[in-house]
Amino acid sequence: MSAEQRLSDHERALYSRQIRLPGVGEAGQLRLREAKVLLLGAGGLGSPVGLYLAAAGVGLIGIADPDKVEISNLHRQIVHGFDTLGLPKTISAAEALGEINPGLKVALHPEGFTVENAAELVARYDLVVDGTDNFATRFLAADACVLGGRPLVHGSVLREAGQVGVFLPRTGCYRCLYPTIPDAASVPTCADAGVFGATCGVIGSWMASEVIAVLLGKRTASRLLVIDVAAGTSKLVAMAADLACPCCGSAPIIRSLEKSAYVPTLCPTLPPMSETPLEVTVEEAQSLLAGPNPPLLIDVREMDEYAVCRIEGSRLIPMNTVPTRLAEIPQDVPVLVQCHHGGRSMKVTQFLRAKGYAHVSNVKGGIDAWSIKVDPKVPRY
Ligand SMILES: [Zn+2]
Repeated sequence: MSAEQRLSDHERALYSRQIRLPGVGEAGQLRLREAKVLLLGAGGLGSPVGLYLAAAGVGLIGIADPDKVEISNLHRQIVHGFDTLGLPKTISAAEALGEINPGLKVALHPEGFTVENAAELVARYDLVVDGTDNFATRFLAADACVLGGRPLVHGSVLREAGQVGVFLPRTGCYRCLYPTIPDAASVPTCADAGVFGATCGVIGSWMASEVIAVLLGKRTASRLLVIDVAAGTSKLVAMAADLACPCCGSAPIIRSLEKSAYVPTLCPTLPPMSETPLEVTVEEAQSLLAGPNPPLLIDVREMDEYAVCRIEGSRLIPMNTVPTRLAEIPQDVPVLVQCHHGGRSMKVTQFLRAKGYAHVSNVKGGIDAWSIKVDPKVPRY
Protein backbone atom coordinates (compact mmCIF):
# COMPACT_ATOMS: atom_id res chain seq x y z
CA MET A 1 0.00 0.00 0.00
CA SER A 2 1.52 3.32 -1.06
CA ALA A 3 1.50 6.47 1.05
CA GLU A 4 -1.27 7.85 -1.20
CA GLN A 5 -3.46 4.90 -0.25
CA ARG A 6 -2.96 5.36 3.49
CA LEU A 7 -4.04 7.97 5.98
CA SER A 8 -1.34 10.07 7.60
CA ASP A 9 -1.01 10.15 11.38
CA HIS A 10 -2.39 13.67 11.21
CA GLU A 11 -5.49 12.43 9.34
CA ARG A 12 -5.95 9.52 11.74
CA ALA A 13 -5.97 11.96 14.63
CA LEU A 14 -8.23 14.43 12.87
CA TYR A 15 -10.89 11.86 11.90
CA SER A 16 -10.44 9.40 14.78
CA ARG A 17 -14.02 9.71 16.10
CA GLN A 18 -15.40 9.15 12.62
CA ILE A 19 -13.07 6.34 11.56
CA ARG A 20 -14.20 4.19 14.48
CA LEU A 21 -17.81 4.25 13.26
CA PRO A 22 -19.16 1.03 11.73
CA GLY A 23 -18.89 1.19 7.95
CA VAL A 24 -16.18 3.85 7.93
CA GLY A 25 -12.75 2.67 9.10
CA GLU A 26 -9.58 3.70 7.32
CA ALA A 27 -10.99 2.47 3.99
CA GLY A 28 -14.08 4.64 4.35
CA GLN A 29 -12.03 7.68 5.32
CA LEU A 30 -9.89 7.14 2.22
CA ARG A 31 -13.05 6.97 0.11
CA LEU A 32 -14.10 10.33 1.50
CA ARG A 33 -10.65 11.74 0.77
CA GLU A 34 -10.92 10.58 -2.82
CA ALA A 35 -14.44 11.94 -3.25
CA LYS A 36 -15.30 14.94 -5.41
CA VAL A 37 -18.57 16.62 -4.46
CA LEU A 38 -20.25 19.47 -6.33
CA LEU A 39 -22.22 21.85 -4.15
CA LEU A 40 -24.92 23.84 -5.93
CA GLY A 41 -25.65 26.95 -3.90
CA ALA A 42 -23.55 28.32 -1.02
CA GLY A 43 -26.60 29.53 0.86
CA GLY A 44 -28.76 28.42 3.76
CA LEU A 45 -28.43 24.72 2.94
CA GLY A 46 -25.04 24.83 1.21
CA SER A 47 -23.49 26.39 4.32
CA PRO A 48 -24.03 23.47 6.73
CA VAL A 49 -23.55 20.90 3.96
CA GLY A 50 -20.22 22.45 2.94
CA LEU A 51 -18.95 22.85 6.49
CA TYR A 52 -19.79 19.27 7.50
CA LEU A 53 -18.41 17.73 4.32
CA ALA A 54 -15.20 19.73 4.66
CA ALA A 55 -14.86 18.75 8.31
CA ALA A 56 -15.56 15.09 7.48
CA GLY A 57 -12.61 14.97 5.11
CA VAL A 58 -14.23 15.01 1.66
CA GLY A 59 -11.26 15.61 -0.64
CA LEU A 60 -12.61 18.07 -3.19
CA ILE A 61 -15.66 20.31 -2.95
CA GLY A 62 -16.77 22.32 -5.96
CA ILE A 63 -18.92 25.36 -5.15
CA ALA A 64 -21.24 26.71 -7.84
CA ASP A 65 -23.01 29.95 -6.95
CA PRO A 66 -23.27 33.13 -9.03
CA ASP A 67 -24.44 35.40 -6.19
CA LYS A 68 -22.71 37.85 -3.86
CA VAL A 69 -23.11 37.89 -0.07
CA GLU A 70 -25.95 40.20 1.05
CA ILE A 71 -26.91 41.25 4.53
CA SER A 72 -30.28 39.41 4.37
CA ASN A 73 -28.33 36.14 3.84
CA LEU A 74 -26.44 36.23 7.11
CA HIS A 75 -29.13 34.98 9.52
CA ARG A 76 -29.03 31.57 7.85
CA GLN A 77 -26.03 31.31 5.50
CA ILE A 78 -23.46 30.63 8.18
CA VAL A 79 -20.40 30.23 5.95
CA HIS A 80 -20.61 33.97 5.26
CA GLY A 81 -20.12 36.86 7.66
CA PHE A 82 -20.09 40.63 7.89
CA ASP A 83 -16.49 40.62 6.74
CA THR A 84 -17.41 39.00 3.42
CA LEU A 85 -20.46 41.15 2.58
CA GLY A 86 -20.40 41.99 -1.11
CA LEU A 87 -17.91 39.23 -2.02
CA PRO A 88 -18.84 36.39 -4.37
CA LYS A 89 -20.36 33.60 -2.31
CA THR A 90 -17.94 31.09 -3.84
CA ILE A 91 -14.95 32.98 -2.42
CA SER A 92 -16.59 33.63 0.95
CA ALA A 93 -17.61 29.98 1.31
CA ALA A 94 -14.21 28.67 0.21
CA GLU A 95 -12.55 30.72 2.95
CA ALA A 96 -14.84 29.31 5.63
CA LEU A 97 -14.46 25.72 4.41
CA GLY A 98 -10.68 26.12 4.23
CA GLU A 99 -10.61 27.32 7.81
CA ILE A 100 -12.44 24.25 9.06
CA ASN A 101 -10.21 21.90 7.04
CA PRO A 102 -6.96 23.27 5.56
CA GLY A 103 -6.41 19.98 3.68
CA LEU A 104 -9.56 20.48 1.60
CA LYS A 105 -9.31 21.21 -2.12
CA VAL A 106 -11.95 23.67 -3.33
CA ALA A 107 -12.98 24.44 -6.92
CA LEU A 108 -14.94 27.62 -7.53
CA HIS A 109 -17.66 27.94 -10.15
CA PRO A 110 -18.78 31.56 -9.80
CA GLU A 111 -20.70 31.34 -13.06
CA GLY A 112 -23.15 29.11 -11.21
CA PHE A 113 -24.76 25.92 -12.49
CA THR A 114 -26.26 26.59 -15.92
CA VAL A 115 -27.67 24.70 -18.86
CA GLU A 116 -24.39 25.44 -20.66
CA ASN A 117 -22.04 23.98 -18.04
CA ALA A 118 -24.28 21.46 -16.21
CA ALA A 119 -23.29 18.28 -18.09
CA GLU A 120 -19.57 19.06 -17.95
CA LEU A 121 -19.64 19.95 -14.24
CA VAL A 122 -21.63 16.86 -13.29
CA ALA A 123 -19.18 14.65 -15.18
CA ARG A 124 -16.26 16.07 -13.15
CA TYR A 125 -17.73 15.13 -9.78
CA ASP A 126 -18.81 11.92 -8.04
CA LEU A 127 -21.94 13.36 -6.47
CA VAL A 128 -24.02 16.53 -6.72
CA VAL A 129 -25.64 18.34 -3.77
CA ASP A 130 -28.51 20.65 -4.66
CA GLY A 131 -29.13 23.37 -2.11
CA THR A 132 -30.36 25.95 -4.61
CA ASP A 133 -33.43 28.08 -4.12
CA ASN A 134 -35.15 27.87 -7.46
CA PHE A 135 -37.02 25.25 -9.40
CA ALA A 136 -35.21 25.80 -12.70
CA THR A 137 -31.81 24.89 -11.23
CA ARG A 138 -33.37 22.12 -9.17
CA PHE A 139 -34.81 20.40 -12.24
CA LEU A 140 -31.64 21.10 -14.22
CA ALA A 141 -29.57 19.42 -11.49
CA ALA A 142 -31.97 16.48 -11.34
CA ASP A 143 -31.94 15.93 -15.11
CA ALA A 144 -28.18 16.46 -15.45
CA CYS A 145 -27.56 13.85 -12.75
CA VAL A 146 -29.84 11.29 -14.42
CA LEU A 147 -28.24 11.91 -17.82
CA GLY A 148 -24.74 11.87 -16.31
CA GLY A 149 -25.37 8.85 -14.07
CA ARG A 150 -24.47 10.66 -10.84
CA PRO A 151 -26.18 10.50 -7.45
CA LEU A 152 -27.97 13.66 -6.32
CA VAL A 153 -28.71 14.76 -2.78
CA HIS A 154 -31.35 17.44 -2.81
CA GLY A 155 -32.70 19.67 -0.07
CA SER A 156 -35.28 22.40 0.21
CA VAL A 157 -36.62 24.42 3.10
CA LEU A 158 -39.46 26.84 3.76
CA ARG A 159 -40.52 28.40 7.04
CA GLU A 160 -40.03 25.57 9.55
CA ALA A 161 -40.20 22.59 7.22
CA GLY A 162 -38.20 21.02 4.48
CA GLN A 163 -37.25 17.90 2.64
CA VAL A 164 -34.17 15.89 1.79
CA GLY A 165 -34.10 13.68 -1.29
CA VAL A 166 -31.47 11.10 -2.14
CA PHE A 167 -31.68 10.13 -5.80
CA LEU A 168 -29.45 7.30 -6.93
CA PRO A 169 -29.13 6.29 -10.59
CA ARG A 170 -31.83 3.86 -11.75
CA THR A 171 -33.76 3.88 -8.46
CA GLY A 172 -35.94 6.95 -8.96
CA CYS A 173 -35.20 10.59 -9.70
CA TYR A 174 -36.60 13.98 -8.70
CA ARG A 175 -38.93 13.94 -11.70
CA CYS A 176 -40.40 10.62 -10.57
CA LEU A 177 -41.84 12.73 -7.73
CA TYR A 178 -42.35 16.01 -9.57
CA PRO A 179 -42.68 15.39 -13.32
CA THR A 180 -42.90 19.03 -14.39
CA ILE A 181 -41.63 22.42 -13.25
CA PRO A 182 -44.49 24.17 -11.43
CA ASP A 183 -45.74 27.63 -12.25
CA ALA A 184 -43.78 30.30 -10.37
CA ALA A 185 -46.96 31.95 -9.12
CA SER A 186 -48.24 28.74 -7.54
CA VAL A 187 -45.56 28.38 -4.88
CA PRO A 188 -44.36 30.65 -2.08
CA THR A 189 -40.75 31.81 -1.95
CA CYS A 190 -38.39 32.05 1.02
CA ALA A 191 -38.39 35.81 0.49
CA ASP A 192 -42.21 35.82 0.76
CA ALA A 193 -42.72 33.14 3.37
CA GLY A 194 -39.61 33.48 5.51
CA VAL A 195 -37.29 30.83 6.85
CA PHE A 196 -35.46 30.11 10.09
CA GLY A 197 -31.70 29.72 9.88
CA ALA A 198 -31.75 26.84 12.33
CA THR A 199 -34.23 24.98 10.09
CA CYS A 200 -31.71 25.30 7.25
CA GLY A 201 -29.22 23.78 9.69
CA VAL A 202 -31.48 20.79 10.34
CA ILE A 203 -32.11 20.11 6.66
CA GLY A 204 -28.53 20.88 5.61
CA SER A 205 -27.04 18.63 8.28
CA TRP A 206 -29.30 15.82 7.18
CA MET A 207 -28.21 16.39 3.57
CA ALA A 208 -24.55 16.20 4.61
CA SER A 209 -25.23 12.93 6.47
CA GLU A 210 -26.82 11.49 3.34
CA VAL A 211 -23.92 12.64 1.14
CA ILE A 212 -21.45 10.86 3.42
CA ALA A 213 -23.63 7.76 3.49
CA VAL A 214 -23.81 7.66 -0.32
CA LEU A 215 -20.05 8.18 -0.65
CA LEU A 216 -19.46 5.31 1.78
CA GLY A 217 -21.78 3.05 -0.21
CA LYS A 218 -24.40 2.87 2.52
CA ARG A 219 -27.39 3.87 0.36
CA THR A 220 -28.85 1.54 -2.23
CA ALA A 221 -32.11 3.21 -3.26
CA SER A 222 -33.61 6.66 -3.72
CA ARG A 223 -35.66 8.06 -0.87
CA LEU A 224 -37.29 11.26 0.34
CA LEU A 225 -37.45 12.57 3.87
CA VAL A 226 -40.01 15.23 4.80
CA ILE A 227 -39.21 17.12 8.00
CA ASP A 228 -41.50 19.52 9.87
CA VAL A 229 -39.61 21.13 12.71
CA ALA A 230 -42.64 23.03 14.03
CA ALA A 231 -44.70 19.87 14.32
CA GLY A 232 -41.73 17.81 15.46
CA THR A 233 -42.32 15.22 12.77
CA SER A 234 -40.33 13.53 10.07
CA LYS A 235 -41.58 11.13 7.48
CA LEU A 236 -39.51 8.89 5.25
CA VAL A 237 -41.14 8.32 1.88
CA ALA A 238 -39.82 5.24 0.14
CA MET A 239 -39.89 5.75 -3.57
CA ALA A 240 -39.60 3.66 -6.66
CA ALA A 241 -38.51 4.55 -10.16
CA ASP A 242 -41.59 5.63 -12.12
CA LEU A 243 -41.69 3.87 -15.50
CA ALA A 244 -43.61 6.88 -16.82
CA CYS A 245 -40.98 9.36 -15.57
CA PRO A 246 -40.10 11.88 -18.32
CA CYS A 247 -36.39 11.64 -17.41
CA CYS A 248 -35.55 8.19 -16.03
CA GLY A 249 -38.62 6.22 -17.22
CA SER A 250 -38.82 3.51 -19.83
CA ALA A 251 -39.48 5.99 -22.67
CA PRO A 252 -37.86 9.23 -21.48
CA ILE A 253 -38.61 12.47 -23.28
CA ILE A 254 -35.72 14.35 -21.63
CA ARG A 255 -32.61 13.18 -23.47
CA SER A 256 -30.54 16.35 -23.33
CA LEU A 257 -30.50 19.66 -21.46
CA GLU A 258 -32.41 22.31 -23.43
CA LYS A 259 -32.32 25.91 -22.24
CA SER A 260 -36.02 26.50 -22.85
CA ALA A 261 -36.91 23.68 -20.45
CA TYR A 262 -35.49 25.44 -17.37
CA VAL A 263 -37.23 28.73 -16.74
CA PRO A 264 -36.24 30.43 -13.47
CA THR A 265 -38.70 30.60 -10.59
CA LEU A 266 -37.84 31.16 -6.94
CA CYS A 267 -37.50 28.93 -3.91
CA PRO A 268 -40.45 26.55 -3.88
CA THR A 269 -40.91 23.63 -1.56
CA LEU A 270 -43.63 21.48 -0.08
CA PRO A 271 -45.78 23.04 2.60
CA PRO A 272 -45.71 21.12 5.87
CA MET A 273 -47.59 17.87 5.47
CA SER A 274 -48.66 17.95 9.09
CA GLU A 275 -50.97 20.93 8.52
CA THR A 276 -53.33 18.79 6.49
CA PRO A 277 -55.14 15.84 8.10
CA LEU A 278 -55.02 12.52 6.27
CA GLU A 279 -58.78 12.17 6.67
CA VAL A 280 -61.74 14.52 7.23
CA THR A 281 -65.37 13.74 8.10
CA VAL A 282 -68.15 14.54 5.66
CA GLU A 283 -69.23 17.40 7.93
CA GLU A 284 -65.71 18.84 7.86
CA ALA A 285 -65.60 18.38 4.09
CA GLN A 286 -68.90 20.26 3.77
CA SER A 287 -67.64 23.22 5.78
CA LEU A 288 -64.34 23.30 3.86
CA LEU A 289 -66.22 23.26 0.54
CA ALA A 290 -68.43 26.13 1.72
CA GLY A 291 -65.43 28.09 3.07
CA PRO A 292 -63.45 30.97 1.59
CA ASN A 293 -60.71 28.74 0.10
CA PRO A 294 -62.65 25.68 -1.08
CA PRO A 295 -60.64 22.55 -1.87
CA LEU A 296 -60.82 20.70 -5.15
CA LEU A 297 -63.06 17.66 -4.60
CA ILE A 298 -62.02 14.63 -6.63
CA ASP A 299 -64.41 11.73 -7.02
CA VAL A 300 -62.42 8.57 -7.78
CA ARG A 301 -65.41 6.25 -8.40
CA GLU A 302 -66.25 4.83 -11.83
CA MET A 303 -68.30 6.73 -14.39
CA ASP A 304 -71.43 4.59 -13.90
CA GLU A 305 -71.37 5.27 -10.15
CA TYR A 306 -70.90 8.99 -10.81
CA ALA A 307 -73.98 8.87 -13.03
CA VAL A 308 -76.05 7.59 -10.08
CA CYS A 309 -75.11 10.36 -7.69
CA ARG A 310 -72.46 13.00 -7.16
CA ILE A 311 -71.49 15.80 -4.81
CA GLU A 312 -72.02 19.10 -6.55
CA GLY A 313 -68.76 20.58 -7.83
CA SER A 314 -66.81 17.33 -7.68
CA ARG A 315 -64.51 16.30 -10.51
CA LEU A 316 -64.56 12.69 -11.70
CA ILE A 317 -61.13 11.06 -12.01
CA PRO A 318 -61.63 7.26 -11.62
CA MET A 319 -59.01 5.67 -9.39
CA ASN A 320 -57.21 3.71 -12.09
CA THR A 321 -56.79 6.84 -14.23
CA VAL A 322 -55.24 8.99 -11.48
CA PRO A 323 -51.57 8.12 -12.22
CA THR A 324 -51.91 9.31 -15.82
CA ARG A 325 -54.02 12.38 -14.98
CA LEU A 326 -51.83 14.01 -12.32
CA ALA A 327 -51.54 17.13 -14.46
CA GLU A 328 -55.25 17.76 -13.75
CA ILE A 329 -54.64 17.79 -10.00
CA PRO A 330 -52.89 20.99 -8.89
CA GLN A 331 -50.33 20.81 -6.06
CA ASP A 332 -50.96 24.33 -4.81
CA VAL A 333 -54.59 24.02 -3.69
CA PRO A 334 -56.10 21.78 -1.01
CA VAL A 335 -57.58 18.59 -2.41
CA LEU A 336 -60.26 16.27 -1.00
CA VAL A 337 -60.63 12.77 -2.39
CA GLN A 338 -63.91 10.92 -2.19
CA CYS A 339 -65.35 7.59 -3.37
CA HIS A 340 -68.32 5.42 -2.33
CA HIS A 341 -67.31 4.39 1.21
CA GLY A 342 -63.80 5.89 1.63
CA GLY A 343 -61.57 2.90 0.76
CA ARG A 344 -60.53 3.69 -2.80
CA SER A 345 -60.20 7.39 -1.97
CA MET A 346 -57.83 6.62 0.92
CA LYS A 347 -55.58 4.68 -1.48
CA VAL A 348 -55.60 7.63 -3.88
CA THR A 349 -54.92 10.07 -1.00
CA GLN A 350 -51.88 8.07 0.04
CA PHE A 351 -50.73 7.74 -3.56
CA LEU A 352 -50.95 11.51 -4.06
CA ARG A 353 -49.08 12.20 -0.82
CA ALA A 354 -46.30 9.86 -1.93
CA LYS A 355 -46.19 11.88 -5.14
CA GLY A 356 -45.52 15.00 -3.10
CA TYR A 357 -49.05 16.41 -2.76
CA ALA A 358 -49.04 17.83 0.76
CA HIS A 359 -52.57 19.16 1.04
CA VAL A 360 -54.62 16.07 0.25
CA SER A 361 -57.21 14.52 2.57
CA ASN A 362 -59.54 11.56 2.28
CA VAL A 363 -63.27 12.07 2.88
CA LYS A 364 -64.13 9.45 5.49
CA GLY A 365 -67.16 7.33 4.63
CA GLY A 366 -67.37 8.67 1.08
CA ILE A 367 -70.52 9.77 -0.69
CA ASP A 368 -72.57 7.24 1.30
CA ALA A 369 -71.77 9.06 4.55
CA TRP A 370 -72.45 12.35 2.76
CA SER A 371 -75.95 11.11 1.83
CA ILE A 372 -76.66 10.05 5.42
CA LYS A 373 -75.17 12.98 7.33
CA VAL A 374 -75.02 15.97 5.02
CA ASP A 375 -77.41 15.78 2.10
CA PRO A 376 -80.17 13.13 2.03
CA LYS A 377 -81.16 14.27 -1.46
CA VAL A 378 -78.03 12.51 -2.79
CA PRO A 379 -79.26 8.99 -3.58
CA ARG A 380 -77.61 5.98 -1.91
CA TYR A 381 -76.74 2.79 -3.77
ZN1 LIG B 1 -37.41 9.62 -12.69
